[in-house]
Amino acid sequence: MIKVILKGHDKYYGIADVVRLFFPSPVEDKENGIVYCKSAPDILIENELLPTGLAVSRTDSKEYFYDGTPEEAGREVKRSLYMALADITGMRPPWGCLTGIRPTLVALETGSAGALADRFLVRPDKARHAMKTGQAELKILERIDPDDINIYIGVPFCPSRCEYCSFVSSDISHHMGRLKDYKEHLIEEIGLIAPKIRRRIGTLYMGGGTPTVFDDGDFTDLIEAIYGELSIDDGCEVTIEAGRPDTITTAKLKAMADHGIKRICINPQTMNDTTLARLNRRHTAQDTVRAIEEARSFGFDVINSDIIAGLKYETADDFIDTAGKLIDLDLANITVHTLYKKRRASMSLEDVMANDEAGDVDKAVTTVYEMLEEAGYKPYYMYKQKDTGHGLENTGFEKGNTPCLYNVAMMTDARDVLSFGAGGMSKRVFDQLGTAKYRVERCSSSKDVLDYMMRTEEIARKKADFFGL
Ligand code: SF4
Repeated sequence: MIKVILKGHDKYYGIADVVRLFFPSPVEDKENGIVYCKSAPDILIENELLPTGLAVSRTDSKEYFYDGTPEEAGREVKRSLYMALADITGMRPPWGCLTGIRPTLVALETGSAGALADRFLVRPDKARHAMKTGQAELKILERIDPDDINIYIGVPFCPSRCEYCSFVSSDISHHMGRLKDYKEHLIEEIGLIAPKIRRRIGTLYMGGGTPTVFDDGDFTDLIEAIYGELSIDDGCEVTIEAGRPDTITTAKLKAMADHGIKRICINPQTMNDTTLARLNRRHTAQDTVRAIEEARSFGFDVINSDIIAGLKYETADDFIDTAGKLIDLDLANITVHTLYKKRRASMSLEDVMANDEAGDVDKAVTTVYEMLEEAGYKPYYMYKQKDTGHGLENTGFEKGNTPCLYNVAMMTDARDVLSFGAGGMSKRVFDQLGTAKYRVERCSSSKDVLDYMMRTEEIARKKADFFGL
């Protein structure tokens, strides 16, 4: 078991974040002043913040110092612990001790890729990626008026549950009846709030789950209700995350196209049929190609596809092959996600040091970034997830100046988002990102579909109050 003893500070959260880069599921034990992880090899580290502002991590044989400013105490203790764990395990998580979900913000704060690499031990190629993407995000934000409101409509249902899914979504094979009810409640909630909205709608994104999971009639009803209730002008960016290609039908494409929708996400995750079947996704690579071709025939000119590096059952070459096939399809947007197979419940230090899986995925992601950039794509938004092993990032790429503005509004926490449906998070942004008074307030919906349906009116009222409507 690894045990980190905290001295002179109480940065449990940050310390656990750094331990998580190396070992799974660290526990913050505030009563005993430690962070530990039972499944890790035996390592004892004392992590101390001295009154002078010097942070030190001590093992029985070595001390790792970092001397920063007192205001940066949280970052200093993390950095000295990262140095110790990198040395002990031989692992070099690419984002260094930067564990937050928005590395582009920190990149812009530090001012240069070099400073980011230096202060947070971020690998230089990742530091450059964060700077480049952060600068793209800033430019895109200029296109999203802060006075506008951005809308999210959530459909947390899928035709089957992918083996790797950690999202709050329901497999409709067990909840078919609820899907219809859910649509009614979603329309009810939109109808309760829409007449009160006095702001222009800048972007609208319907995500999931799999929003095209509804049958043709219900999907068409939902699209019509959205356009009937909300004031969506021609300049509003509307994106439908259709998701699974097998749920995309001619009637659904027509329902969207009839309202002028031009942006759609068709997400294969992999173009390998064997993997798709083993992941329980119930569609083939050919279904993806068919859906893309049909969407194009309906005038969808910005098609995004999500792909995942590190899928179970796949090698790095499989992932590179998937990326190549989608690049050949000439999509406007490709989003690269990263996932790691779960590490074994318990590993020895030798196991940890011999585990090159993270390195393989990391190299494959770098190769795919190069392929995308060679094909004319540019990274335009990125984020990290806490539970992604070794903390690799997810990045959206676009070509031909087709970024999804909603993604940038949402991921940067720089614009207001009003979210409809179960599981969505609404947010209000006060003052501009990067200013001293900048802050974000959030209002959650119910994550539970049944609870959402029982309390639709109450939840709508709460959101209206939150936005002062
Ligand atoms: S499509 Fe996405 S949300 Fe649905 S089960 Fe698969 S991973 Fe989860």
